[in-house]
Order: sequence, then structure tokens, then C-alpha cells
Amino acid sequence: MPKHPLIAGNWKMHGLRDAIPEALAMDTAARQSRASVAIFPPSTLLFALSEALNARPEPSPVRLGGQDCHKDAQGAFTGDLSAEMLKDAGAEMVILGHSERRHGHKEACESVAAKTLAALRAGLEPIICIGETLDQRQEGLTHAVLSKQLRDSLPLALEGQTFHVAYEPVWAIGTGHVPTDDQVIDAMLLIQKHLAQRFHNQVVPHTLYGGSVKPDNARHLLSLDGVDGLLVGGASLKAEDFNRIIAAA
Ligand code: PEP
Repeated sequence: MPKHPLIAGNWKMHGLRDAIPEALAMDTAARQSRASVAIFPPSTLLFALSEALNARPEPSPVRLGGQDCHKDAQGAFTGDLSAEMLKDAGAEMVILGHSERRHGHKEACESVAAKTLAALRAGLEPIICIGETLDQRQEGLTHAVLSKQLRDSLPLALEGQTFHVAYEPVWAIGTGHVPTDDQVIDAMLLIQKHLAQRFHNQVVPHTLYGGSVKPDNARHLLSLDGVDGLLVGGASLKAEDFNRIIAAA
């Protein structure tokens, strides 16, 4: 059965409580779409958004997620949040291994794998991000980098679980540069081959593309082989843009 495309909006470190109406407008668009829609707001907004979405007469189809989590359930880790805390605040999903965490916070694949286990423990659905830098692509290392990230960031415990993998070339994030169709398809096929060889899940994971997705290129990106969802950064902040991407699905 064909999968419903997954359209995920990563708000990063953007959004105060006055952004709640944007999420409600996205909820309205999600109700008219065949896509699964998820919003990943800053953690400070999770609870308020969950309350606002669930205060609507019909249950919201929009799922909420965190942008990272700690590997432990609790402890002396100042500033960190556990997967259980995200769940308690209304999250159903979590983004792990985003390049801004891998590069800005020196997160290794092994740490992403440990966080993925934590997400499963808490009952969150992880989206695990991988992607090469521009230097790595120019040096012909793209396949090696993606394969290593997949091998080391995805724990074996994903067998039988619902999870997703997002291909986000680092050089495409927030830059306006989108890979060629062939580059996207090549990465998606590599991911799908890896997943098929390693896991025998009943729920086939979504493989998402992310990096400078905009309302004008969303439909085309979704038409590419292997792309069954989009992870959207900048264009997910305003309902005006994100709703056009939801409609493109
Ligand atoms: C992202 O941060 O995951 C992302 C894809 O950002 P943008 O859409 O802004 O390139």
C-alpha cells in the first residue's frame, strides 16, 4: 500500500507563544491533506501547542515532536531533556542527529544511536538525519559517509519499530542550494537498500529529503524516486509557506 507522504516542519530555535496561531493554521491545512504532518517546535512550545491543537473539536492530525533528546530518562544533566519529558509535554516524535547537532554539538553517530534507543524506550517515533558536507561530496565520499552514518546511528533495536530516515545534505540546509534530482535519488536508494538489508520492519520507514525545501520545489522533490516525505526548516515557520508544501503532497 502506498505510504502517505510525511511532511515534517523543523522550527529549530524559532517561535514564542505568539506562533501558536501558525500551528493552528497548519492544522487546518493538514486536515485537508493526504499527507501525515508533524511539527517540531522548540521544546518550550510543545506543551502549549499540544494543548492548543487538542482543544479543537476534532482531534488534530498534526503530530508534535522534539528536536533532540538525552539518552537517559532523568539525571544530573543540566539543560538537557529526556525523551520521556518530550513525550510528557505532548511529543510523539523526535528528530535525532540533525546536522546542526552533529556539527554544532559534536554529536557522534554512537550518541545518535543511544538517543534513538531512548526515543523508542519513551514511545517516540524517531526521524534520524544523515547527510554529507560539501567537502565530503567534492572528495567523492558521499556514499562512504552516508553508509557509515546509517551503520552507526541506527541501532539494531529499530527492527520491528516505526522510524524514519532523513537525507539532509549539510550544504543544502538553509542555503537555497538543492541537490540535482540524480543526487537525491542516489542517496535515497542507498538509504532504502541499507534499510532493506538490515531491518525487516512491517512498517516500512519513510525516507525523507531535507534541505532548502520551498513551496515551489516541494511537489517536484516528492515526485523523485525514493522520496516519501520532506523535512522542512525555514519554510515551515509560517503557515503561508508550510501549507503550500502540505498541499503539494
Ligand atoms: C533542516 O533544518 O532540517 C532544513 C532542512 O532546513 P531548511 O529547510 O531551512 O534548509
